Amino acid sequence: MDRKKVALVTGASRGIGRAICVKLAKCGMDIAFTYSSDEEGAAKTKELCEENGAVVYMYRADIRNSESCAEIVKDLVSKTDKHIDVLVNNAGITRDNLIMRIKDEDLDAVIDTNLKGTFYMMREVSRIMLRQRSGKIVNISSVVGVMGNAGQVNYAATKAAVIGMTKSLARELASRHINVNAVAPGVIQTKMTDAIPEDVKEQLTSQILFKEAGKPEDIANAVAFLASDESNYITGQVLCVDGGMAL
Ligand code: NAP
Repeated sequence: MDRKKVALVTGASRGIGRAICVKLAKCGMDIAFTYSSDEEGAAKTKELCEENGAVVYMYRADIRNSESCAEIVKDLVSKTDKHIDVLVNNAGITRDNLIMRIKDEDLDAVIDTNLKGTFYMMREVSRIMLRQRSGKIVNISSVVGVMGNAGQVNYAATKAAVIGMTKSLARELASRHINVNAVAPGVIQTKMTDAIPEDVKEQLTSQILFKEAGKPEDIANAVAFLASDESNYITGQVLCVDGGMAL
């Protein structure tokens, strides 16, 4: 392929999303990314990707809105000669609590962002990838979608759903050589885990075989592999990047 690959990453104003963008830029891709509100963080992600040679397209958008997702993809392909080579569905939120304290709006918020947002982006980008007969989709799930976690019934449901969607879409798109895989991070040091109380963090860390949290770059390295030609014979898989937590 003589043109540069284009990767679209959701939720990249910080944390794991930013690390994925920077890693894919280092791998020689141009980067499109979304964020919902953090302008300063988004500008930093753009700067880091540009320092690594990427052309960057930045979209402030709410992925809970299907029309916004469609507009992002329409605009992006108008700028990239109709190509999107990699989609990474990373944007996600938590609204943790014990089940009797989870309000309807906390259930809806995680479903709308983690499940529906991922679905909308996959639906839009699948059309492009089917036409170009190639592509890599990597969905960011979580170990709690594999093993469950007290206090995260709503979040775990959405992350298990992401795995179900990944396997189903892998079956739908295989005939056109499109790979669909998931990465399931364990405990990773980001703003999301900063919010976890210290005693809960200690209890979680004790379940990790390596006895320490991972870094956003650990997830980015796994995503870069699944986004590369080196994973061409892998589809429908869930790669746990968790220091052995879900073993
Ligand atoms: P984070 O630091 O909280 O970052 C979340 C990102 O998602 C931000 O860029 C945020 O944008 C964006 N976002 C949130 N809601 C959005 C929406 N409606 N539309 C568009 N963008 C939205 O989270 P993280 O720790 O990097 O997590 C990234 C992914 O990994 C998530 O799917 C998470 O569930 C998963 N994960 C994380 C861990 C962990 O330990 N950190 C473990 C397992 C799985 P704004 O800043 O602009 O709001």
